[in-house]
Amino acid sequence: MIVVMKSGSTPQEVEHVVKLVREMGLKEHVIVGTERTVVAVIGNDRFKDRTALETVAGVEKVVPILAPYKMASKEVKKERSLVPMLGADGAKVGGRKVQVIAGPCSVESKQQLLETAHAVKEMGATGLRGGAFKPRTSPYAFQGMGEKGLELLALARQETGLAIVTEVMAVDQVDVVAKYADVLQIGARNMQNFNLLNAAGEQPKPVLLKRGMSATLEEFLLAAEYIMSKGNANVMLCERGIRTYEEYVRNTLALAAVPELHRVSHLPVIIDPSQGTGKSYLVDSMCRAAVAAGADGLIIEVHNDPEHALTDGAQSITHQQFGEMMKSIRRIAAAVDRES
Ligand code: PEP
Ligand code: MN
Repeated sequence: MIVVMKSGSTPQEVEHVVKLVREMGLKEHVIVGTERTVVAVIGNDRFKDRTALETVAGVEKVVPILAPYKMASKEVKKERSLVPMLGADGAKVGGRKVQVIAGPCSVESKQQLLETAHAVKEMGATGLRGGAFKPRTSPYAFQGMGEKGLELLALARQETGLAIVTEVMAVDQVDVVAKYADVLQIGARNMQNFNLLNAAGEQPKPVLLKRGMSATLEEFLLAAEYIMSKGNANVMLCERGIRTYEEYVRNTLALAAVPELHRVSHLPVIIDPSQGTGKSYLVDSMCRAAVAAGADGLIIEVHNDPEHALTDGAQSITHQQFGEMMKSIRRIAAAVDRES
C-alpha cells in the first residue's frame, strides 16, 4: 500500500507513520516530493489493516498497490526515475538524452579495449560496455579475462571518462566487480538468480538488469523489485530479446516492451539490439526503432575487428558503423523531442 501524506504534513507525522508501518512488521520507503510526501509500504501487506493508518494525523489517504511489484511500479512513483551512470560527465539514464553504452562483447586485450573505448567516446557514447566475466553456453568457449579484464576497463575509464558497465555473474563476484565498475550488469541468464539480485541490491552501484530470455515483463519487474527492496533504487531495465521459434534472428527483440515498461514502471528502459538480433546488419535499424519507441538508452556491441572477436563477432558493429548509427539516431531523437 501507499500512504499519501497531506500536503504540509510535518516530518514528525511522517515519522509516526513510519513507526506504525514498522510495528505492522513491514518496511517503508519514504518518497519526498515537491508537493507531498508518500510512504510506500514494502512487504506482504495483503492481510494488514489499511484503515488503521487512514485516520492517523497528517495522512490524506491509503491506496492499495495493485501491481505485484511495488517500488518498481508507477503506482508508487509517477515521475520517471533518473539513474546515474557514475561516469565523468555525470550522464543519467531516463532523461531527455538517449544514453549510448557501447563496446565489445568481451574485454580481450588492452589494445582492443582502448581502441574501441576511444572511438566510441569520440562518437558520443557515455558508457563503455565489455564483459570480464562471460556467461557462455559452452564450458569450452572463452570465459572472459576476469579481474584482469576489470583492470583494463578501469584503465579505459581513466583515459576516456566513460562509465564502465560490466557483468557480474555470481554473488562472490559482486565485491570485485563493484570495485571497478560504475554500473553492474546482471545478464539474461541470471535474471532470476535471486541471491545475486539481493546482493546487487545491497551494494551502492547502479544495476543494469537484463530481461531473461523466457521471462515475462512481470517476472522482469519482480526481479528489479528484488534489487530495489534491498535498498538500491538505481535500476535500469534492459530488453535484449526473447527466445521464440524464429530462426532468422538470434533473439526476437520485443520493442513493445519500451512503451509497456514505461506505462507500468518509472524505471528507465535500455535496448540491446546486439543480443536482440544477433546480426550486425540489423543493429542500426533496431537502434533507430528503439529511439523512436522511447528507449532511454542503448547498449551496443562494437568491436575494432568483429571478424576476429572472441565472442559475439557476428552481432558486433565496426567503429565506422557505430559512427553512422550515432548520426542516424540523432535525427530520430530530434524527431521525437529527444537528443542523443
Ligand atoms: C552480453 O551483454 O554480452 C550478454 C551476455 O548479454 P545477455 O545477458 O543479454 O545475453
Ligand atoms: Mn555479447
